[in-house]
Amino acid sequence: NADQAMYEAKSSGRNRYCFFTHSMLETTQTRVMLARDMREAIEHENFEIYFQPIVDLNSNRIVKAEALLRWQHPTRGMISPVVFIPIAEANGLIVPLSNWMFREVAKMARRWRELASSPIQFSINVSPAQFHGDSEMPECWIDTCREYAIPGETIVLEITEGLLLKANDDVGGKLRALHQAGIQIALDDFGTGYSSLSYLKKFDIDFIKIDKSFVRDLETDPNDLVLSEAIVVMAHKLGLKVIAEGIESAGQKALLAAAGCDYGQGYLYAKPMPAAAFENLLREARAAEEAASAIEKAHR
Ligand code: C2E
Ligand code: MG
Ligand code: MG
Ligand code: MG
Repeated sequence: NADQAMYEAKSSGRNRYCFFTHSMLETTQTRVMLARDMREAIEHENFEIYFQPIVDLNSNRIVKAEALLRWQHPTRGMISPVVFIPIAEANGLIVPLSNWMFREVAKMARRWRELASSPIQFSINVSPAQFHGDSEMPECWIDTCREYAIPGETIVLEITEGLLLKANDDVGGKLRALHQAGIQIALDDFGTGYSSLSYLKKFDIDFIKIDKSFVRDLETDPNDLVLSEAIVVMAHKLGLKVIAEGIESAGQKALLAAAGCDYGQGYLYAKPMPAAAFENLLREARAAEEAASAIEKAHR
């Protein structure tokens, strides 16, 4: 059914689906209802943060994770961020929601610091709305890092190209303040938005994320491989690291690694998962590393 958008959310290995027709989403009634439910959900903490590992393509170690929001609605089931983030942006709830999320991620980053052999970086998606006007976002988030005693470098903010093209807000100043506190910046969904590249030199950017639309057909479409290789070469010459998202096959991984891509994220490694599952994964990875180094020692 072409008129029906299907939003899929995954939870502990099971697939749950949530159906909305485009016309349903467009009615103010639905938006008002979801906005009301969202307020309650923030109060009752019905939002959950899932974590998806990001792997170093050379060592195959988990070195980062992307935090992704999930909404478990009491009657509608799991609602995708693709549906509720735009509503939260429109009604202003994105600010308290993101502040809550930042705090939770900082808390988990603190808790997991000792678990991995080297500290994991956590990336958080940021909406342009948080850079608007007199938002206190930079100071507030820098304070949260101090409160949980995590270095700024523990956090990566994922922003989109659209944000950087907005001239009216002081985006550059806010990014600089975050950067001075050590917080890093990744350009998400790279290549899907606008074609201006000038912002790559104008703003403090640390990572480029190759969008999954370039990764999907990497093994069959030579153009996608050329584009991915070109992005890596350009990024490295500018001193940036590259993360590829949406890696689903070993073939895609091999091509990206051969192209020099630094990090990868996708179902090949793991789907986004609840905090408890991610913690188990870190423990298992740690145990496997320790076992491997014990074997190495025994053979020396
Ligand atoms: P994104 O930031 O580009 O996140 C990557 C999306 O790709 C995630 O979808 C992730 O689950 C999905 N993904 C990861 N690996 C694979 C793969 O191998 N194959 C496929 N087909 N998909 C993969 P998700 O979690 O549904 O999030 C969708 C978008 O919603 C995100 O895109 C981001 O723009 C937005 N979003 C999610 N959480 C937040 C948040 O806390 N704040 C804001 N502002 N936006 C968020
Ligand atoms: Mg992202
Ligand atoms: Mg992305
Ligand atoms: Mg994307």
